[in-house]
Amino acid sequence: MKPLKPGKTFQSKINGVPQGQATLLERPKTVALVPGASPFVKLKLLVGENDTVSVGTPLLQDKRDPKVLFLSPGGGRVAAIRRGARRVVQEVVIDLADDGAHEPALSFAPISPKALKAMSRMEVVNVLKLRGIWPLIRQFPFMDIPQESNGFPMAVVSLHSGERFNPVPSLFLKDQQAAFLHGLTVLQNLADRVVVTAPRSAMAPLKALGLAEQVTHVVQDAYPAGDPGVILYQIRKSAAENASCTMDPQELIAMGHLLSTGNVQCRRIYAVSGTPTRPASHYQTRTGTPVSHLVGPLKQGKGIVTGGVFTGTITSGDAHMGMGITTATVLDGVDTDAFFGFAWPGRRLLSESRTFLSCLESGSLGMDVTLHGEERACINCGWCDKKCPVDLLPQFIMKAASTGEMEEPLALGLLDCTGCGLCTFVCPSKIDLAGILALSKQTCYRERVMP
Ligand code: SF4
Ligand code: SF4
Repeated sequence: MKPLKPGKTFQSKINGVPQGQATLLERPKTVALVPGASPFVKLKLLVGENDTVSVGTPLLQDKRDPKVLFLSPGGGRVAAIRRGARRVVQEVVIDLADDGAHEPALSFAPISPKALKAMSRMEVVNVLKLRGIWPLIRQFPFMDIPQESNGFPMAVVSLHSGERFNPVPSLFLKDQQAAFLHGLTVLQNLADRVVVTAPRSAMAPLKALGLAEQVTHVVQDAYPAGDPGVILYQIRKSAAENASCTMDPQELIAMGHLLSTGNVQCRRIYAVSGTPTRPASHYQTRTGTPVSHLVGPLKQGKGIVTGGVFTGTITSGDAHMGMGITTATVLDGVDTDAFFGFAWPGRRLLSESRTFLSCLESGSLGMDVTLHGEERACINCGWCDKKCPVDLLPQFIMKAASTGEMEEPLALGLLDCTGCGLCTFVCPSKIDLAGILALSKQTCYRERVMP
């Protein structure tokens, strides 16, 4: 087990971090398949509204590779198919069958670790595609569902990104050790090298669970030291490793569970904070549960962010938790501007620059979803590159990308951007650098990689 060298991180003073053990929530009335993590996937619907489905019924298919299926996280009736821009499917909502004890579920043939080791890489890939696991794997640098099936130079499994609002590894690994180890065996078949990272603070609990030996690298307890992209940047040995893959650790457990038992695992541990009705803590419930089931009723003026405070998206209580999304955070201030806000000394304003009185505060501060002003022109202050964990100059990449040419952003390292969001967070001109770079990467993918 090697310690990774400390890199650029953000010492978060944000308050309301989830604490404690995982509390079991009651069964939700609906769950949904939310396939949205990859912007490149082209989905074909395999069911219609009012169809009866079981846990494990294929609901969607990737048109680019019809073997890649997305399975139902619940058994019951298809209540709604929600679409976004250009009629892209955003959610397939399932009304769960009333009787939880007899919820219809498909089962598959279990595959033992020994049988798994004897299978060829292509056989494993085919099993993963048909059992709905393949869409849970993401390939660098575009974080698309992998299009090649001949394996990966490296697989990175980060147990915690360092973002303190994410679920604690010992909570989601408790009683799931066998499934986790089975999942790692799958990755060992798919990748030439498997890297498992954990923050230093997680090592003692992992030792108690008997999993410390699986950790290959120990990282700092700070964001984004455990971001898979940052880990890849630090440990890659060749350019070929830029095509490595990564997987959320709870999805890895689900993969191991499905292959070892033949049953789809519908359980997830979510980290929830900022809600008025329940303490900031961890909650166990169904995969694809409604956001409102986690955060409860909210007053006006509150915003819900799912997927992390630096990288997540603002969502509504009607939506459901997406694949690989395990945090829901309620923050203050949707579209509210402070009256004469520019004249305030900002004693309680969370900011990385030392412009506000809050820089003298030693305690934690509240975060909100407002911009506190409009986007302004870049002032070349350099805050963004001081924080970039992969040593990019985001302001120069942004300016190069604005010309529409791809050569210069690529030469400046665009593809190394992990999307950690820190440049956006610290920019005093409110420029969404991470969003601009993410769009540039998508343009690059469409121009250069997509058929
Ligand atoms: S932090 Fe914002 S204003 Fe400062 S250099 Fe970067 S983009 Fe420009
Ligand atoms: S450019 Fe911004 S989003 Fe990308 S890795 Fe650097 S700090 Fe993170």
